[in-house]
Amino acid sequence: MNKKNYYLLACIWLLFLLITNLFSCQNKKKSMAKNDVWQDPHSYSNHQEVRVRHLDLNLEIDFERRILSGEVMLHLDYLKSTDSLVLDGSDLKIQYVTDDNNKPLSFVVSSPSAVKGQRIAIGLSGKETKWVKVKYQTSPDAEALQWIPAAQTAGKKHPYMFSQSQAILARSWVPIQDCPIVRFTYTARIKTDPKLLVLMSASGNSGSKNDSGVYSFEMRSAIPSYLMAIAAGDLSFSSISDRCGIYAEPVSLSKSVNEFAELEKMVVAAEALFGPYRWGRYDLLVLPPSFPFGGMENPRLTFLTPSVIVGDRSLTSLVAHELAHSWSGNLVTNASWNDFWLNEGFTVYCERRIMEELYGKDFSDMLEVLGYQDLKSELSDLKEQPRDTWLYLNLEERNPDDGMNDIAYEKGYFLLKHIEAHVGRVQFDTFLNHYFDRFAFQSVTTEEFIETVFEKICKGDSSKLKELELEHWIYTPGLPGDFDEPTSTLLTKAENNAKEFLNGSLDPAALKMFHPFQHIRFLQSLDSKMDSSGFDRLEKLYPYSQSQNPEILTAWLMSSLSVGYHKAFYPAKNLLMTTGRRKFLVPVYKALLSTEQGKIIAVSTYIEARNGYHSVAVSTLDKLLHP
Ligand SMILES: [Zn+2]
Repeated sequence: MNKKNYYLLACIWLLFLLITNLFSCQNKKKSMAKNDVWQDPHSYSNHQEVRVRHLDLNLEIDFERRILSGEVMLHLDYLKSTDSLVLDGSDLKIQYVTDDNNKPLSFVVSSPSAVKGQRIAIGLSGKETKWVKVKYQTSPDAEALQWIPAAQTAGKKHPYMFSQSQAILARSWVPIQDCPIVRFTYTARIKTDPKLLVLMSASGNSGSKNDSGVYSFEMRSAIPSYLMAIAAGDLSFSSISDRCGIYAEPVSLSKSVNEFAELEKMVVAAEALFGPYRWGRYDLLVLPPSFPFGGMENPRLTFLTPSVIVGDRSLTSLVAHELAHSWSGNLVTNASWNDFWLNEGFTVYCERRIMEELYGKDFSDMLEVLGYQDLKSELSDLKEQPRDTWLYLNLEERNPDDGMNDIAYEKGYFLLKHIEAHVGRVQFDTFLNHYFDRFAFQSVTTEEFIETVFEKICKGDSSKLKELELEHWIYTPGLPGDFDEPTSTLLTKAENNAKEFLNGSLDPAALKMFHPFQHIRFLQSLDSKMDSSGFDRLEKLYPYSQSQNPEILTAWLMSSLSVGYHKAFYPAKNLLMTTGRRKFLVPVYKALLSTEQGKIIAVSTYIEARNGYHSVAVSTLDKLLHP
């Protein structure tokens, strides 16, 4: 080989290295160049050119027709010169669009795609239009909005409506750049029936109705579209502290206030850990039972399932979770849904820290072990789809809901615990506070998180970054081989009590001392080792069939229905008819479907209950029950 050829080969080799390196970086670090070239996979918007920075909403709620109608004024910031504004929409009927001179603008609405909905392209008038006004109305089937007839509310007198915008449903009630990288402030003027109160994720929520039925709101901090929220119903308010209070239907207000009496204490504990609460008020809105989720962290006003109101404040870790989102998620937001673990992994970590602060380490250990169980079963469900068990997701061409599982929540949590264990809690807390400060009111990518760890925890030392194995946690499937399983003394006790029950030596007093999470573990530990006579014997020791706590009742139903225990059929039907929370509906229906007689009850109950469920729950349950 002569020298000339050697140089040529060397050049080709270098070029090859450069190209392969470029491709592998792009694959891994797709979220990095977020500002100008990066396109959100779930949005049509041209946010790389022009961004909505503020909106003024003026809408009327029409309960009869189940629509919102009116206009939105979108104020624009230009990153590049452009002659179009591209927005996301879903099932919206757009009447007209005008510019800041009230001049009509042309617009084209594409036929809807399955995941992203409608592309709305507005022709701008050539100069830098400061704002555009869109006159529109929503569809009665708008995915974000649930309309509840009076009969299905707690008070039974007035209808109720609420929104759920996460992940990409805001576009079904506002034409908007519906991607978390775009943040904006907003004002709103909402008109409704004067018998109802309107609330939003903004300031302006008032404790009482007014005769005009017109309410005004303002959100002064920039938020992503999925945090826009609205609710209207026969609602009343009770204050808990200067900055915390509860909105609920009048008939359920006092129970709710009692359940969440420690709300202020929770905010104080969170501030001591993560820095000041930056949203002003922190209120809760207790929704009707058909709300399909546990909670939604809408800023200033968490939307909450009533299923955590059990009379003994034992399920308030859910509130700690939604509150923690005031830092992780709302203040520092995932740049795209592929980075979802930045929202949820951080939030589960913060939630458990708040719980540890308020109720001690044994309690937070219990939550951690239960979370680990969920993660293990998620990993086993996804064993044929290993790519879905990376922390950094690939949700292109898919509904982001597909990624909203325990991987982001629990694997994300365990990664942060792993870093904490490696560097010590004091240093990790310093990092957390820095992260929340530095990225306050911004949307961040997974790569920015890694860079911040490199800078703040590793002090720029690559070998230290390597020791943390972040890339392994984030960009490979499952859990690392050397992962240590968490343990909980309280849950181990419950497991031992289950063994004692099975061999007939259990002291019934032990069950009366249990926390609800210990009951759940106890019941799970009996699973598959019991027949109907065992459940009869258990019922005499502790009346699980009458539990008012849906978490405990669901755990008991899952065990007892799977062996066809007849006395579980009525409580199962009763639960399915009175809650709409997917967390309970799915396992109870699945347990019923596992036996022939249960199947008959599942199908007939679903036909009766389906209309009262939220579209999110219906879309999951239709796949199970094929109505
Ligand atoms: Zn969350």
